[in-house]
Amino acid sequence: MNASEFRRRGREMVEYVAGYLEAIERRQVYPSVEPGYLRPLLPSCAPQEPDTFEEIMEDVEKIIMPGVTHWNSPYFFAYFPTGNSFPSILADMLCGAIGCIGFSWAASPACTELEMVMMDWLGKMLQLPDAFLVERGGEGGGVIQGSASESTLISLLAARTKATWRLQAASPGLTKAAIQEKLVAYCSDQAHCSVERASLVGGVRLKTIPSDDKFAMRAAALQKALEEDKAAGLIPFFVVVTLGTTSCCSFDRLSEVGPLCDKEGLWLHVDAAYAGSAFICPEFRHLLDGVEFVDSFNFNPHKWLLVNFDCSAMWVKNRTDLTGAFKLDPVYLKHRHQASGFITDYRHWQLPLGRRFRSLKLWFVFRMYGVTGLQAYIRKHVGLAREFESAVRGDARFEVCAEVVLGLVCFRLKGSNELNEALLEKINATKKIHLVPCHLRDQFVLRFAICSSVVNSSHVQLAWEHIRGLATDLLRAGPEPKAALAEIKS
Ligand SMILES: *Cc1c(COP(=O)(O)O)cnc(C)c1O
Repeated sequence: MNASEFRRRGREMVEYVAGYLEAIERRQVYPSVEPGYLRPLLPSCAPQEPDTFEEIMEDVEKIIMPGVTHWNSPYFFAYFPTGNSFPSILADMLCGAIGCIGFSWAASPACTELEMVMMDWLGKMLQLPDAFLVERGGEGGGVIQGSASESTLISLLAARTKATWRLQAASPGLTKAAIQEKLVAYCSDQAHCSVERASLVGGVRLKTIPSDDKFAMRAAALQKALEEDKAAGLIPFFVVVTLGTTSCCSFDRLSEVGPLCDKEGLWLHVDAAYAGSAFICPEFRHLLDGVEFVDSFNFNPHKWLLVNFDCSAMWVKNRTDLTGAFKLDPVYLKHRHQASGFITDYRHWQLPLGRRFRSLKLWFVFRMYGVTGLQAYIRKHVGLAREFESAVRGDARFEVCAEVVLGLVCFRLKGSNELNEALLEKINATKKIHLVPCHLRDQFVLRFAICSSVVNSSHVQLAWEHIRGLATDLLRAGPEPKAALAEIKS
């Protein structure tokens, strides 16, 4: 493909993408394919001679699209949103074209410098303390990671190194292995599974702290675990606070856990993967109160800030905590500006060497929407969640299972778990809308997350009518109608 064909195909592709997103609600949100559907539809080897672009695009529509779950459909209410917007798609295209691998300042100065400035812009939108902002002379700064899971892992590894060095300085005879064996990380019983994954990869123990009746981790419960573990000769070193849990969007009490971690000298990481985007609105910023106690903080603009995957924003209060833990300087990566002090070599802030020019996506989105536009977007989603919540509360057969703070509503039919499992199965089998469940304590709960960038009140109302209708059918003739009805009436 030469440049002139690229121009033509590029226009065609933009046309295809615009058409796809414009008409996405006419596609079935969840595919009707069985596992292994695709292999028989593809040749068993790559073509010896080239195919044409038309042939490829025909196959996209014929064999790929039928197997796609349409995350951007306004009938998609599963998981959490995936960010999407036309400015971000265009920026991603430019990122692909530049194709620099910006591991150091010298490897592509604009890639590093735009990222530093965008992370300051975003940090200011969230009113982060000065320590996190490069422009304000903070010791810390921001970096774009690929995912929240990576951010948690990196924080845990940096905290592990810091704790190990501190203990070895105090008792030079101690080996790394002897220390590591005793290190303990903590999170609430509502934390994302990526925290457990980080502890497995990092080779340290993880203890889960029972959350309170609002599914929040409280300082008293954490303190109790810390005392027990210290008494048993273990070494607490790392705590993850979740702001906006994946199951029900509950918020650990950062403003009480923060001072405790500070007093105990523990690294405090905040995982706000979904909820973090909302903190750009003054009315939700209080949910981040206590961030001054945090060592590392992360959220995903690729979830709820109109930026396409991947773009996970992470800040540290002290950049040497990261760069000290991971720095290696082979001669082929050295450059003459690295000693200047103003320069960030982002490879020391992350696990891989290579990195994309992802800050372009932030830059395009911030400029094309403005902070006001982004705030309006968050508020629209929260408003739609409230609308769904009041519809659920208006039907006595249903209950809302957790406080609705942002764009997620957890609800269920009053009755058994089996009844609710049957309801979810019916919902997902008809494929008009798509939802996923969660467990809250021992209850099976349906999650309704406002996801699409084009979802509006009419989609939410249609979804609710659909759910109500299926519930009525189920209660009339379901797998356990008598027991279910008896439970509901009691
Ligand atoms: C979505 C989510 C994650 C995982 O995000 P990735 O970027 O896919 O790793 C982690 N924590 C919470 C609370 C989440 O909601």
